[in-house]
Amino acid sequence: MGESSTEISEGRVKILVQGGEHKPEKTVGFYNPRMEFNRDFTVATLAAVRRKGWKALDAFGASGIRGIRFCKEIEGLEVTINDLSQGAISMIKKNVKRNKVVAEILNRDAAALMNERKFDFIDLDPFGSPAPFFEPAFRSIRNKGIVGITATDMTALCGIYPKVAKRNYGGTSLRTEYCHETGARLVIAASARAAARFEKGIQVLSVLNADHYLRITLRVTEGAECANKSLENIEPAYHCFDCGEHGFKKKCKCKKKLSEFGPIWSGSIFDEKFIRSGLKILETQDFGTQKRLIKTLELMKEEVRGSAFYYDLHKRYKGNVPRIAEAIEKLNEKGIKATRTHFSPTAIRSEKFSK
Ligand SMILES: [Zn+2]
Repeated sequence: MGESSTEISEGRVKILVQGGEHKPEKTVGFYNPRMEFNRDFTVATLAAVRRKGWKALDAFGASGIRGIRFCKEIEGLEVTINDLSQGAISMIKKNVKRNKVVAEILNRDAAALMNERKFDFIDLDPFGSPAPFFEPAFRSIRNKGIVGITATDMTALCGIYPKVAKRNYGGTSLRTEYCHETGARLVIAASARAAARFEKGIQVLSVLNADHYLRITLRVTEGAECANKSLENIEPAYHCFDCGEHGFKKKCKCKKKLSEFGPIWSGSIFDEKFIRSGLKILETQDFGTQKRLIKTLELMKEEVRGSAFYYDLHKRYKGNVPRIAEAIEKLNEKGIKATRTHFSPTAIRSEKFSK
């Protein structure tokens, strides 16, 4: 690895990556600089909610950066970094040593590992769909533990390949202005079903939509009742391509034929306490993507009380698009609750829309 490896720094760690920063995916020790924001978000929010002595698993270690950052930037975690590739393991070992941290390093199939051992925090960031790992992850996770899921299979989740979404997540996606939220709700619904098989329920702490991925953070609670309650939040949704209305009610103002999609998660997707505690960490801890983190969490704080889905102003107004604050004010004046959304700078989170 000697000659072709490059040192990069992120957060409080410095790691070696093979072949520099621009190697394509699936190479050994792969490091994706565009995921820094994802890792910063994960570290900040996990630091806010973790309990002392928690066992944390980075199930797909690659370069090891995520797990090493857990060791270095979050106090009191016992970290396991796993990767199936032998090449990745030697890179992870070097990087762990380089950063003078203590972590268990395992060369296992992630699903087999999770089926055998219990963890309090599990980070799923595989190549391709995370869906095949839901069942082992929810089997493994301890009561009140947290599962963080990164999904990059956006063509399936956002409605370009609805049948792929159906196969992987048990519901169809639909190409609309709010398709990223539909994608997140498909991932959450599939998670709730997987958790329910082990008599566990889920609570959604946050959904992060950034660049070309979704990051979903779930808290898991044991109990058949919790599982049943979670499953009640999985429903079909409807969209009208004529008037643009959408939601979980099978009706729209123009009464045209509605397109059904899902079933998807219909419950809330933000937890105010979780968002606020993440913001609190940012008062004392500095991250590489600090400004973006604060902006995103502040927007999520507004979204907590919003309805499901959002309307994009560019889609609603053909030309002469008003400023977002104006459009929100107009809706509020009509008694329609509306907020901004971190999903899109030109969208409004509201149940209804009118000009
Ligand atoms: Zn309609």
